[in-house]
Amino acid sequence: MPTKFVIIGGGPAGNAAATHAARLGAEVTIIERDVIGGAAHLWDCIPSKTMIATGGAMSFTRRIGGMGLEKQEVEVDIEALTGRIDDIKGRLGRNITRLLESQNVRMIAGTARVMDPHTIEATTTSAAGVTSVEVLHADAILIATGSRPRIPDWCVTDGERVLTTRDCYPPTIFPTSMTVVGSGVTGVEFVHMFSSFGAAVTLVVSRQQVLPNKDPEVAAVLEDDFLKRGVRLLKGARATSIERVGDEVVVSCDDGRIVRSSHAVLAIGSVPNTDQLGLEDAGVLTDGGYVTINRHCQSNVDHIYAAGDVSGKLPLSSVASMQGRKVAEHVMGLQKVAHRHLDYDKAASAIFTEPEIADVGLAETEAFADGRKIRVTKVPFSSTAKALINNDSRGFVKIVSDPATGVVLGGSIVGRHAAELISVIALAVTAHLKVSDIVESLLVHPALAEALAEAAE
Ligand SMILES: Cc1cc2nc3c(=O)[nH]c(=O)nc-3n(C[C@H](O)[C@H](O)[C@H](O)COP(=O)(O)OP(=O)(O)OC[C@H]3O[C@@H](n4cnc5c(N)ncnc54)[C@H](O)[C@@H]3O)c2cc1C
Repeated sequence: MPTKFVIIGGGPAGNAAATHAARLGAEVTIIERDVIGGAAHLWDCIPSKTMIATGGAMSFTRRIGGMGLEKQEVEVDIEALTGRIDDIKGRLGRNITRLLESQNVRMIAGTARVMDPHTIEATTTSAAGVTSVEVLHADAILIATGSRPRIPDWCVTDGERVLTTRDCYPPTIFPTSMTVVGSGVTGVEFVHMFSSFGAAVTLVVSRQQVLPNKDPEVAAVLEDDFLKRGVRLLKGARATSIERVGDEVVVSCDDGRIVRSSHAVLAIGSVPNTDQLGLEDAGVLTDGGYVTINRHCQSNVDHIYAAGDVSGKLPLSSVASMQGRKVAEHVMGLQKVAHRHLDYDKAASAIFTEPEIADVGLAETEAFADGRKIRVTKVPFSSTAKALINNDSRGFVKIVSDPATGVVLGGSIVGRHAAELISVIALAVTAHLKVSDIVESLLVHPALAEALAEAAE
């Protein structure tokens, strides 16, 4: 009898687990209440990156003067942009659905609830409004229900002017002025997005640095870019209330400062989707709503797993997919043979601002805090031919290695295509490669990757 594996949630974690487990021989059912692709497709990664790409194209046209071209004013066509977002989401959703179908994964469009450790109830509503309930038996269960934006009790969002990140799509209008509350990854991406589209943006930064958890040198390049674009940085200020007053939004801060703008968006983290899921009926332990997991993504109930945002680890689509894959291997008993544990410290991440920011592995600041000996080499992109050809020499590559062995421990990249280029350092970190392995790779010329080889020298 094949293992009956029921997955709740069709985002990156659920999809990766489903396809991988099905390939390994499980009988897989995936229950999704919204769309296959998850919040990642509907509201998070895909629409935000699509809008950022269009905003980036607009800001590029403002910089083409140095490339032997006449400057041209471009205007955003909201309808065309909305169509483009829908088209991309649709294509990606169809690709995943086809893949799941090809692996014989059963998809149920409904809301799931765990009834006991081996029973799940899926409630579906037909187009005619008829509700039906199906009860499923499971040998293994994956909770992959994701998260949603956190709305603090001092703020009432209205979806019109006081927004969560999810209210920004489809883009019905472009704000003339926008206050972004929260200066983590999502906050700075939204600053970049709205300022690229011409809004006057104020960023409320609770500490003294945007991206407070990142390398200060990295954050400095971004702050510099924001200031050049006219973004107002309100440092050391914590928002305490956001109120709509007519057509204006008033953000008050704990130090008495007040910001007025046409719109405000909250980017202060997320909360897990575990309420009303019935986890307590199955005896699954949670912490702050997040399912407590071990290194195999198992909860305290051995055959109930959690992956993705709901597991409280790194809230990244890439991490969610990898967790899903690891869960599938564990469910099918592969951990007893070749199986590498997921090492969250080796996850590459990127921030899609301009310039882009990406990092992986050990950070310089972390090593100093731990008193660990490291070798740090930094090369600016301005030393490469390709950066000059691109008319964009902002940023740098930094590689952190072990001075005794030369093994690459981490790195950060700020600049054009940083999200792509970091893959080289990520591979080196995962495969324990040495800086000499990067130096001796025969890379392309002219290419931004040449800065990587130079930093590895
Ligand atoms: C604005 C923004 C931009 C982002 N950009 C990036 C990026 O560029 N790169 C990146 O790596 N990460 C990005 N992230 C993070 C990324 O979106 C998440 O880490 C990722 O979506 C997590 O995947 P998941 O599978 O855990 O959950 P989700 O994608 O949230 O999917 C969970 C699914 O479970 C379903 N569900 C929930 N409860 C039930 C239930 N009871 N029954 C049935 N179905 C249920 C939901 O409908 C949902 O579809 C971004 C996040 C935000 C907020």
